[in-house]
Amino acid sequence: MKILNEKPTATKILERVALPVEKISKEVLFDCRMCGQCILHETGLSCPMRCPKNERNGPCGGVRPNGNCEVFPDKPCVWVLGIERAQRLPLWREHINHLHPPVDWRLQNTSSWISLVTGRDSIHPKGWDAVSASRTRMSHAQSEAEGADKRGK
Ligand code: SF4
Repeated sequence: MKILNEKPTATKILERVALPVEKISKEVLFDCRMCGQCILHETGLSCPMRCPKNERNGPCGGVRPNGNCEVFPDKPCVWVLGIERAQRLPLWREHINHLHPPVDWRLQNTSSWISLVTGRDSIHPKGWDAVSASRTRMSHAQSEAEGADKRGK
């Protein structure tokens, strides 16, 4: 939201209000780790920051045959859960295929709601542009494929 970007003081005040509400509600509902760049709707509502390796693009190669985590063998892999849950969501099912840039740790402990409205979670360090570009290309390719599927029906 452009107006917020032009008013940093207003953004700070909004963040002070939003942060505790987001933290409490999402910790209870999703065991949120407040990364400040939420992608829950693209991960089957399974928080990727609960992965001990902070994987943001699917499971690592260490998932156990029973679907549990390599690091915590008694816990299910958050990505296995996410992929299963994504199939049951009424919305965003295909979003599980989106490619994400690495975690921007500068946003840790900020409100992802404010990040969303200001767009600050889309501003990446130099060098990440290739990731953003490939994500855009993937989204376009996916949209075209979905369009072709629909036309074929
Ligand atoms: S992706 Fe980030 S903001 Fe979203 S639930 Fe997980 S830690 Fe919280």
